[in-house]
Order: sequence, then C-alpha cells, then structure tokens
Amino acid sequence: MPKDSCSKSEVTVQGISASQGIAYGPVFLYIQSDVEVPEYQVDPEKRVAEIARLEQALVVTRHQIQKIQAEVEKNLGSEEARIFDAHLLVLEDQALISETIRDFENTGSNIETCFDRVSQRYIKAFDEIDDEYLRERAGDIRDVAQRVLSNLLGHTAQSLSQLVEKRVVVANNISPSDAAGIDRSQALAIVTDSGSKTSHAVIVARSMKVPAVVGVRDLTTKVSPGDWVLVDGYDGTVVINPDEQTLFRYGQIQRQRKSEEQRLLEANRLPSVTLDNVPVTLRANIEGACETALVKDYLAAGVGLFRTEFLYLSSDHVPTEEEQYRAYRDVAETLAPEPVVIRTLDIGGDKPMAGSSHLFPREDNPFLGYRAIRFCLDQLDIFKDQLRAILRASAHGNVQLMYPMISGTEELAKANAVLDECRAELKAKKIPFDPKLKVGTMIEIPSAAYTADLLAKDCDFFSIGTNDLIQYLLAIDRVNDLIAHLYEPTHPAVVRTLKHIVDEAHKGGIKVSVCGEMASDPILVPLLLGLGVDELSMTPPLIPAARFLVRSMTMDDARKLVAKVLKMDSPKAIQTLCADFCAERMARR
Ligand code: PEP
Ligand code: MG
Repeated sequence: MPKDSCSKSEVTVQGISASQGIAYGPVFLYIQSDVEVPEYQVDPEKRVAEIARLEQALVVTRHQIQKIQAEVEKNLGSEEARIFDAHLLVLEDQALISETIRDFENTGSNIETCFDRVSQRYIKAFDEIDDEYLRERAGDIRDVAQRVLSNLLGHTAQSLSQLVEKRVVVANNISPSDAAGIDRSQALAIVTDSGSKTSHAVIVARSMKVPAVVGVRDLTTKVSPGDWVLVDGYDGTVVINPDEQTLFRYGQIQRQRKSEEQRLLEANRLPSVTLDNVPVTLRANIEGACETALVKDYLAAGVGLFRTEFLYLSSDHVPTEEEQYRAYRDVAETLAPEPVVIRTLDIGGDKPMAGSSHLFPREDNPFLGYRAIRFCLDQLDIFKDQLRAILRASAHGNVQLMYPMISGTEELAKANAVLDECRAELKAKKIPFDPKLKVGTMIEIPSAAYTADLLAKDCDFFSIGTNDLIQYLLAIDRVNDLIAHLYEPTHPAVVRTLKHIVDEAHKGGIKVSVCGEMASDPILVPLLLGLGVDELSMTPPLIPAARFLVRSMTMDDARKLVAKVLKMDSPKAIQTLCADFCAERMARR
C-alpha cells in the first residue's frame, strides 16, 4: 500500500452487494459528466503560448486515442478498434481547429472556452442533420472534444477503456456499453454511486467474476485518484484507505470465503440431484461467445440465456447477419450437444445502443417504452437479420430461441410470423437450419404472466425473467438506488405470480425455466424448485452454490417450504424463512 494512503483516515461506506468477492487496490475514478470549462481572458502577451497549448493538447489526445485503439484491437479485435479511426479524424479536422483559433483571436477568451464553444456548435449542427452517418459524427466529436478539454484542463480523460492497470473502478454510473468495454483483466472491482443488484453493468461484473458494490451514494465525491479502497462484494461494504487492522481482518475473511468456495467447487463435479433423487437442470447465462469457457468450467448444462444485446453494445454498428451467425454458431458448436437458448435482441431500457440515437427517440420512461421485442417488431430489418443468424446457427448445435418482453399473444404471433418468413427465405436459398428449433417466450411482464395459459399454446417453453417481472409487478425501477430496498423477490405478489406461471405452463404441457437473478440467489433456489420451476439459469460462477444446495435438500421439503410461504404476507419473513431453510441444509453437509 502506498504511504500517503496509510496516513489518510479510514472511512467505511455501505452500499448494496452486487457481485461477490473481496478486492483491494488503487482507485480508478470514472465520472460520466461533461467537463466544466472555466472562462477567463488571456493576457495578449501570452497569446502565442495559448495557441501552443491547444496544439499540445491535440498531440496528447492523439497519443491517448492511439493507445486505446491498440488496446481495444488487442482485447476485442480490429473491427471494434476501427471506431477510433473516426475519432482520430476529428483531431485532424482543420475547420474545427482554425475556427477555434479565429474565435480566440476575436474574443481573447482562454483557448478551452473557444474550443468548447466551437465544438458545441459542430455537435449541434451534426446532431440536427437528417443523415444517420453524419449524426453519428456528433457523438465522435463530443467524445474527442471532452478528451481535448480534459487535457487542456489537466484532468484525466474519462474512458473505461483507459483502464490499463489493475484498479478498482469507482464510478457515478456505468452504462452497459461502458461495462462491455472494460478490460476484464484490469478491473479489480466495480463500485458505483447508483444502480441496483439487477442493473446490467452488475450482471456483466458478475460474469467477469469481479466483486461489485452498487448504490454507494456519493462515493465518487469521497474518494480521490490517490486513494486505495477495499471492496467487500459479499456484504456491500467499501472501506476507503483501510488501516492495517481492517486489512488484516479482511484478509482472514477472504481466506475463509476462499476455502468455502473451494469446498463448493469440489462438490460442483457431482450430479445436480436432490437428496430424494430429483435431477435439477442448472444452466448458464452468458453475454458473449467468449464466455463458453466459463460455461464448461462450472459444468453448466448448456446456456439458458444468451443475452445477445452485448454483441450490439460492444460494436460501433448494428452487427450483420453474418457476424451474428458466426458468434452464435461458435457458441452452439462449442457447447453441443448441450442446449444454447439465444434470446433475441433486448435493447432499449437501460441498454440503448451506442451511436444509434436515431433509432432511439428520447423517452421519459424507457423501461416502459421502446424496448426489446417492441423495438424488433418495429425495426424488422434488424430483427430479421438476427432471426436468420440464429436459424442458421441452429444447424450447428442444439440451439433454441426466445423472445424478450412479450406482453401477450398478439405480439408472440407477430414475432413467430416474422420467424416463419425467415425460415421460408432460408429454405428458398437452401440454407440449412434446424426445422425443429424450439421457440420460447420470456415471461417478464405481468400481462404475459396472467395470459400464460394462452401463451403456452404458441411456444415450446417459458423462461421467467424475474429481474423485469419484479420491476413491473412492484413498480420498482430496477436501476434506481433510492428504492432498491423495496425490490423484494420474496414479495407475496411475486411468489403468487411465479406459481401461476409455473402451474399454467405445466397445464399447457411446457417447461419453465427462471433466468433472472432470482435463480442465482442460493437462498431462493428451494423456493423456485418447490414452486415447480423445471430449470434454473444463472451467471456461471454462481452454479457451485446452487448445486451444493440442490444436493443438500429434498424436493419434498422444498414443496413444504412453498406451502408455508404461500400463507405468509411479509416479504421479510418469507426471506428469513428461505434463508433459514438454506442455512440449515448447508450446515448439515
Ligand atoms: C430478466 O429480466 O430477468 C432477464 C433475465 O432479462 P434482463 O435482465 O436481460 O432484462
Ligand atoms: Mg428482462
């Protein structure tokens, strides 16, 4: 630990535990906001030096962008690195530079003010043009201008792709596309001021096996870049500049946790079967083809949820049918004969696509708006490219497809009709696909839950997205930390709705899986299984705990637990009952 952080006094802050693990390291402060530019007049004698400052900042910015481009190329490939070519072009834009100098000569204001003024004018002009390509240039100019201004003002330019040394990322907020750009080998932990357990950045952190704590209000105002922080992702604590005693105590906790995890990992090789011999299928949630190794490492029975939107979020363009086909085929081939359930694009909500503002109008309530299947049924070209890619991949393994955010039978019928069109197109071109491809519906909107009997007639399986289902049932914005404590998976309304969905699915002769975060909470696994859920799908590193619990309980006890729960009215009491059920069984083994 560096000396100066030892001398600072320790401060402990509490947030919400989002991804397990303990980490300790120096802070990488990431604040998403526009740089504030102070305005002042420059002494006429210093005018030459002022212009030289701008030139110097442009050179430094160029080097920074080139460095990031090289990193991105190494980590993600040349296709993704190409986006930075457009950024480098902005730096060479003679009109932008000479207008800045002209503004400086006319007004005598400091050069950052002039540069800010001129670049804002450019951004506005590009933003208003009715041409997709030119409008995207506004985003490039905004990014580069922020970088140049940061350099002129001596700030650290803000980009998570600058994370090139092992650091704890402390941010006010991390968008899903930021999260997609994090170098997985360099982030020791992620801590955010805002967010909740089910925000998508957290889901990415979990899949990266990186400890995360969210909802630590104002943390970014309490730490500075020289600080070191200790992050306890088990109970949501963050200690700024911990003293030696704290470090020693956490060292012990970490050793104990590690040995527990080791015990779980060893037991993970055993079959996932209850004490009364009922097999339980545990599948993996993944975000990209690079995670198939995790699926195998944790011995998941295939993939229960492939969140394809991260393919779109980590790219500077909408991925083509061919690009998607290759990604889906790789996953299907690698994991065959195990199933891979590919979910069609769930963009929108808290996952807008970078550089595609023309596709997403500004919305007051994006989670209630233009998202997922609603977007796809409106953007048929994008939807059909993806459906054809999934169909083509189905010729290479055990692929299944499911639609997100279905609200009722008409929407499902429309999606299925588009899928039929794609089947016909491929057939006409003699391109192979699995004619028996299973098609499922995510149940994550209350209207779908309560028409489950009707939906079951038109699909092959259900997958319950509890993250959204709880959000919509309880009217709790899943990414709002102010109300995160009210987000209660054990609310009687949630339990009853789950029961209804499972019962209706079984009456209709189809299986039900849960792929929301509820499935990854070991405490809730007996509740879900007792309700009759057939399969659970979760972030791969959480499979060992779920398997251990499955092997410690009987299905009969789980059903008795549910019978009790269904008579209870308090979410907290249900949570405690489930926690006690789990603790008792884990301790016995
Ligand atoms: C869910 O809503 O539970 C789910 C699995 O989908 P996502 O978290 O990607 O919205
Ligand atoms: Mg969802």
